[in-house]
Amino acid sequence: MEFDAPHCPVCGELAHGSLEQVPGLALLLFDEHGKAEYEGETTMFWDDQNTVHDENGRVTLECPAGHRWAARQIDEEQFAFQCYGDAVQLVEDAQKLGIQPEDLDEPVHDAASQSAAATNNGGIDEQIAFLVEQFGVDETRRLLKETATAQETPSDEE
Ligand SMILES: [Zn+2]
Repeated sequence: MEFDAPHCPVCGELAHGSLEQVPGLALLLFDEHGKAEYEGETTMFWDDQNTVHDENGRVTLECPAGHRWAARQIDEEQFAFQCYGDAVQLVEDAQKLGIQPEDLDEPVHDAASQSAAATNNGGIDEQIAFLVEQFGVDETRRLLKETATAQETPSDEE
């Protein structure tokens, strides 16, 4: 499995676990008047352990230092399908709200530049993976050559 945010947002450590819920049966003791008290023991149903999901379907991850954060578990196929369905619904919503394409120019531009910044921070692996995704292998190869050529300024030559 994969998570969209496997690293702790506070300390940067990888998660060491996901928050789970295990149902248990707290044993009761009834007295002669029909009143109950907890007996003090709980029978745990370990086979019914479940990952806790919030209302947005995100799980809670925890790092070794005990920081917790929400992350989405990525099941590639299901995720793509869900996104597609959600997107169709959102387009309808936008139309109902009278939103015009140019109204979304700015948020799209912001999202793209944030994503570009994240890719650039990810180093040359992520940068090249991104370029290949956008342009294909041949175009990326051409781009690399072009970039290398542009860097060869006369002052670099001995
Ligand atoms: Zn942490």
